[in-house]
Amino acid sequence: MSKYSGKNVVVTGGSSGIGLAIAQSLAAGGARVAITGRSQAALDAARERIGANAIAVRGDVSSLSDLDTLADRVKAEFGTIEALFVNAGVTALTPFESTTEQAYDKLFAINVKGAFFTVQKLAPLLSRGAGVVLTTSVAGVVGIKDSSVYAAGKAALRSMARSFSRELLPREIRVNAISPGPVDTGVLERSMSKEAAAEFIAERVADNPMKRLGALDEIAAAAAFLAFDATYTAGVELAVDGGVTQL
Ligand code: NAD
Repeated sequence: MSKYSGKNVVVTGGSSGIGLAIAQSLAAGGARVAITGRSQAALDAARERIGANAIAVRGDVSSLSDLDTLADRVKAEFGTIEALFVNAGVTALTPFESTTEQAYDKLFAINVKGAFFTVQKLAPLLSRGAGVVLTTSVAGVVGIKDSSVYAAGKAALRSMARSFSRELLPREIRVNAISPGPVDTGVLERSMSKEAAAEFIAERVADNPMKRLGALDEIAAAAAFLAFDATYTAGVELAVDGGVTQL
């Protein structure tokens, strides 16, 4: 029997990058996976790559009605879930002096409010012993130029991993976070110019003790570990970052 057969899993932001890597590895291990994302075309392509064990639900995590739709669909398809990966998010450089109120509100609406209500809306479906994994970032614990809004949002999620654990441990549900270092998922090119993204990545590689970016399967393995194997672990943030926040 495959490691994850019989397990039902939801991965928000599972249509690309880190979320897709998590969804692919768990589905390959036998899990049934529901992925979410904003673009129907990206979701269709991702579902194709993951295979027959996947369903895709389009929606915006900053919309509570979209989250209600997601919860209804997951309940109808799966009944209960054994793992929830709260991974949907956007990255944007927001230089301190020029950041607008609109840019600030948008980033917090997706990365912070979206994560909070994803957990709230899907918590009723989590089975006893389930794992929740929030995707934070190294930016939440070190100072990175032009990242104050993104970083503050990720620090908020790190805090939520602790408080949510307190709220959900009575149901034996553990909440933890993975904190990826830089991984080239194309997210930077989508949120800033190609040149700015290349410069940002080069700086991150130069700063990193391992002198390289992380690989998607390295992040996915850590996320699966926290959700399924780390049965005596709650409220931690696991750095998967080449040591950049530790050394
Ligand atoms: P990505 O752009 O490849 O994936 C982001 C996913 O989130 C996509 O599926 C997208 O559809 C979804 N998403 C974005 N906004 C959404 C919204 N409003 N509603 C619903 N879904 C939405 O990026 P990625 O690099 O795989 O990022 C995944 C997570 O990892 C993010 O939370 C990001 O902050 C975090 N992270 C990434 C890195 C990195 O270097 N790539 C490092 C640390 C943390």
